[in-house]
Amino acid sequence: MSNPLPIMPLADGLKLVIMMLGARTIHLVMEMTSSFATCPVCGKASNKIRSFYKLTLRDLAWRGTPVIIRLTARRFACVDRDCQQRIFCERIPELVPAHGRRTARFTETLSALGRASSAEAATRLARNLGLSTSADTVLRANRATPEPKMPTHRVC
Ligand SMILES: [Zn+2]
Repeated sequence: MSNPLPIMPLADGLKLVIMMLGARTIHLVMEMTSSFATCPVCGKASNKIRSFYKLTLRDLAWRGTPVIIRLTARRFACVDRDCQQRIFCERIPELVPAHGRRTARFTETLSALGRASSAEAATRLARNLGLSTSADTVLRANRATPEPKMPTHRVC
């Protein structure tokens, strides 16, 4: 199925169910679509869904309006009887890191703002862009996101 919102790229295995426009927030309800997930311990694919759970993630603002993603994800049973991981949660690392409350691109943006200025200035700028955050969160984003490597130039 093609992406109904071409201006908002979706990760593979992710489907937009509904978009709700609130007075001050945009809510995107999404769900996982892949028929299987890979066990993080043994690497075997499983299609044995055991339960569902919901994640609430802050995403980049849309024209200054905060965006909240409500994602329904699944827990799978590992198919390898010898694997020590009996149940595991499916992951989309390009969308959200494990145990994250913000999308990866939200954290990367905070980190970039923090590298360009002080944590306090980055926090003010982020809030002006619709990204609710704190100086501590900017500092944590800086630690969690490695600084991109810049090419070095020799001066003779
Ligand atoms: Zn396993």
